[in-house]
Amino acid sequence: TVVTRFAPSPTGFLHIGGARTALFNWLYARATGGKMLLRIEDTDRGRSTEPAVQAIIDGLAWMGLSADEPPVSQFARAPRHREVVEELLAKGAAYRCYASQTELTEMREKARAEKRPPRYDGRWRDRDPSEAPADIKPVIRLRAPLDGETVVHDRVQGDVRFPNKDLDDFVLLRSDGNPTYMLAVVVDDHDMGVTHVIRGDDHLTNAGRQTLIYKAMGWDVPVMAHIPLIHGPDGAKLSKRHGALGIEAYRAMGYLPVALRNYLVRLGWSHGDDEIISTEDMIAWFGIDDINKGAARFDFAKLEAINGHWIRQSDDAILVDMLMSERDVLPNGAILKARPDDEVRAKLTAAMPGLKGRAKTLVELAESTNYLFSDRPLDLEEKAEAILADGGRPIVAALLPQFAAVSTWSAGELETLVRAYAEANGLKLGKAAQPLRAALTGRTTSPGVFDVLEVLGRDESLARLGDQAG
Ligand code: GLU
Repeated sequence: TVVTRFAPSPTGFLHIGGARTALFNWLYARATGGKMLLRIEDTDRGRSTEPAVQAIIDGLAWMGLSADEPPVSQFARAPRHREVVEELLAKGAAYRCYASQTELTEMREKARAEKRPPRYDGRWRDRDPSEAPADIKPVIRLRAPLDGETVVHDRVQGDVRFPNKDLDDFVLLRSDGNPTYMLAVVVDDHDMGVTHVIRGDDHLTNAGRQTLIYKAMGWDVPVMAHIPLIHGPDGAKLSKRHGALGIEAYRAMGYLPVALRNYLVRLGWSHGDDEIISTEDMIAWFGIDDINKGAARFDFAKLEAINGHWIRQSDDAILVDMLMSERDVLPNGAILKARPDDEVRAKLTAAMPGLKGRAKTLVELAESTNYLFSDRPLDLEEKAEAILADGGRPIVAALLPQFAAVSTWSAGELETLVRAYAEANGLKLGKAAQPLRAALTGRTTSPGVFDVLEVLGRDESLARLGDQAG
């Protein structure tokens, strides 16, 4: 069965590119009935932090992309990495190298002067260990093949060939006994039974070196799929301004997990021209061979449009739940926290049908509910005050007694009444509706004013209108 893995380094938050890598691994596991594992690549002790590990786990959970087994710590596996190095030494596939820092610096500088990539020259490859200087703790290097080529059969990039003369005898174990990333990844993927390595194409060159380690151990090389990185809208490397943010930032901006999955899957994979793709359909359709070779471009406008679609598509109850559960995360969630849950929930539920068609994000959706919770007398926005001051208040005053007299308080009844009033006074419906909206919400934009009246209810509506009728 298929085993994929997501292997982030916990040196920062789960960023958007990492989330897409996780999504592809998760999808492929779901599509094949396999599983996705999570490996925290925490070997860099200086840069790895516990909050970052937690942020990755939380971010994946929020995205709906949790791994199928508890996370594996790479650092905790260091003894096993050393064991494999011992095996390689015993086979003669690795050797101890006593080159000093000075010698290594010389090699690097020589390469720079000759304008070629730095390369270890193999000086300890065949030297007798009895010549080893006593004061130097050796590193352990792979005895890499000197000629021929190493081919990575990549499912996205095709066959990628590395002349072996370019892949030098790289380090497996540092002089302090710590494994290198190159070694740890291979040993872990092997031991975890990983069948498919799906990751960013910034790891493609590593794949060449890693293939040499698999061969030296006599292990099967997993299927490799190196996916193109996400670029900014201008084609340059993704910058913060263009979306290179942590997943928690997208959460705070009010994006829905289902919308992010929909948006991210299309950054590098497509199904015809489909823009809107449900998670079930992704699972049904996803395949590694359909991953695009070209770099994907991040586009906030498209993400917003897709998010708006999924907000409109969501059940009212789900949106209400989300607004409630995201109160701590959304920048404008405080208003929803200031009142008893039951009251907030009831008001949101009543208002939701009129609101969800207009919001592109949960932040906008939450903002559009603010009028429900305003204390009287309302703080009027400048434009709303202007409408009331400029002939609006007499209209409110004229309609107020008629509203007070309606038998059933419903959007339909109230609309009939306002229409009749507008007609009788030679006004466009909007001219009559605007001051009502200003008085009821303190703003000049809101859901349909008749919906607002119905959702606020008779008492609150009459009170708010009364505040502005004078
Ligand atoms: N830890 C690496 C990273 O965060 C990924 C390694 C891999 O997927 O093999 O870039």
